[in-house]
Amino acid sequence: MGLEVSRLARNSTDWHRLIEICALSHTLILDEDGIYDPTEFNDRLLLGLKGTMSEAETHLLRARLRGGLLNKARRGELRCPLPVGLVYDDRDQVALDPDKQVQQSLRLLFETFFRTETAHRTAKHFRDHGLLFPRRALSGPEKGKVIWGPIGVRNVLLVLHNPRYAGAYAFGRGRWKKQTDGSKKRELLPQDRWQVLIPDAHPGYISWQEYEDIDQRLRQNAQAYGIDRSHGPVREGPALLQGRVVCGICGNRMSVRYHRRSQQLVPDYLCNRNYMEHGAPVCQIIPGASIDSAVGKLLVEAMTPMAIELSLAVQHEIQAQLEEANRLRRQQVERARLEADSARRRYMHVDPENRLVADSLEAEWNEKLRALAQAQDSYERHSTADRKVFSEAQRKKLFSLVKDFPAIWNDPETPQRERKRMAALLIEDVTLLKGEQITLQVRFKGGATTSLQVPLPLNAWQRRKTPEPIVALIDELLDHHTDREVAERLNEQGCVTGAGEKFCKESVRWIRHSRGLKSYKQRLRKKGMMTPDEISKFCRISHDTVKSRREKGILTGLKCNDKGDWLYYPPSNDNLSPMKKSIKNIPSACINEIKIPQKEYEV
Ligand SMILES: [Zn+2]
Repeated sequence: MGLEVSRLARNSTDWHRLIEICALSHTLILDEDGIYDPTEFNDRLLLGLKGTMSEAETHLLRARLRGGLLNKARRGELRCPLPVGLVYDDRDQVALDPDKQVQQSLRLLFETFFRTETAHRTAKHFRDHGLLFPRRALSGPEKGKVIWGPIGVRNVLLVLHNPRYAGAYAFGRGRWKKQTDGSKKRELLPQDRWQVLIPDAHPGYISWQEYEDIDQRLRQNAQAYGIDRSHGPVREGPALLQGRVVCGICGNRMSVRYHRRSQQLVPDYLCNRNYMEHGAPVCQIIPGASIDSAVGKLLVEAMTPMAIELSLAVQHEIQAQLEEANRLRRQQVERARLEADSARRRYMHVDPENRLVADSLEAEWNEKLRALAQAQDSYERHSTADRKVFSEAQRKKLFSLVKDFPAIWNDPETPQRERKRMAALLIEDVTLLKGEQITLQVRFKGGATTSLQVPLPLNAWQRRKTPEPIVALIDELLDHHTDREVAERLNEQGCVTGAGEKFCKESVRWIRHSRGLKSYKQRLRKKGMMTPDEISKFCRISHDTVKSRREKGILTGLKCNDKGDWLYYPPSNDNLSPMKKSIKNIPSACINEIKIPQKEYEV
């Protein structure tokens, strides 16, 4: 019973259902006009009509209200909540917030954006300098008050996108869309579909032109994050673990970024959620190539016939245990049934006159029946939960698949997409942590986990570095050879540089220089050999005489570098004239150190 009963329902569908329920339960409906019996067709028709009328009325009412609002908005007179930094003054006009600190914060935000041109860097600037930003509480006990806090990228974007800061009055910038789950979602509309836009309606922090510049800049920036960016397709990329990598520092999912190295796309896994949302530094960037190959190797190793044999054996064991438990439960059911039977018989045989005994026996029988039902229930529940055993044919099929797995995985013809799919079937996720090494925690689909250590990949220069054994060989050869000769010897032995090229005197010199190895000349000098200058002074002869004596075999020397410079062994006593013998003062220790290999004499 009520006035305008059709208002009980929110819409026509609900109303018709309500009438149907009333009809089923023979409920009469009474309103200000009369009594209706929903089982009667005519009454039902009338009630339905009333429901439709009510819905139409609601619609008209809403449309009229909306129309009024829109008209007011078109004149720019509709009062809307203002963003922080703008307030209504005494005359109900929009003005800048008189709080200087709020004003300065907003001005700083716009200035920073004009300087840095991205919302991320704007948020980062505030964060790096520990600056707080005001926001207005929309609900709660603090409603309407200004609260100061750190600003994230999302809020920077909200400020930059808000036309009211440019002094424009805007209405209907978005619309609410109903989702299939009943919730509502706000969808922003492009500027040409806004219902009302009145530029220069009130004072603002930036001009309308600046607002449009910002909008264009943001749209250009957004392309860098869109799906059609040139860095490579999102789903088809070669990163094996796309979407299954978890950051070992903050626990967020890591995303994939690609870079090109010698015509190949190489993945990097990076954790940039905090960067995207708060302008905080990127958590970690981990080169992905070595991780992908380590995980691939792990999968090939894990999918061996032996591992499958083992897991099947374990499963067999579990199955045997389950069967044993099952047998016990079956026995319990049997015993409960016997007990219930004997309780029933006892009850049947009692004299009905003896009521007290009969009552207690009946209670006992009921008790036994309840126990039987429980045992049966438990038996059924557990036997359906038991796992199935593989049949022999299934076993064979499984083994052949496992045997083929490494071949398929390592086949260069297998598309990376297929490999990704296989990995997705086997791996739940991988947690990465970069330290001195990269630690991988791999979680398989079955719940098993394993941990791997992968060395950090080498830098470009580290990869091109000459291997240590070759450097040692160069050090050895330099004792007796010049740079060019060393290069020739190395090439004869088939050695190559770190970059995979043949040796030349320049590369030997570079290695010598970078590793701090002494040159052939320095080594000979250390052994006490003398320059032409020194020997001419020492023997008091001219440079030409030194040369001619060398050619005559009186002095012995060696070519000490590729330019053809000579170094001389200090002259022995026999080579000196008697007069010079008297003035000679070679330190004897120096001479003793010199070992003259006979065959290296140049005569
Ligand atoms: Zn992280």
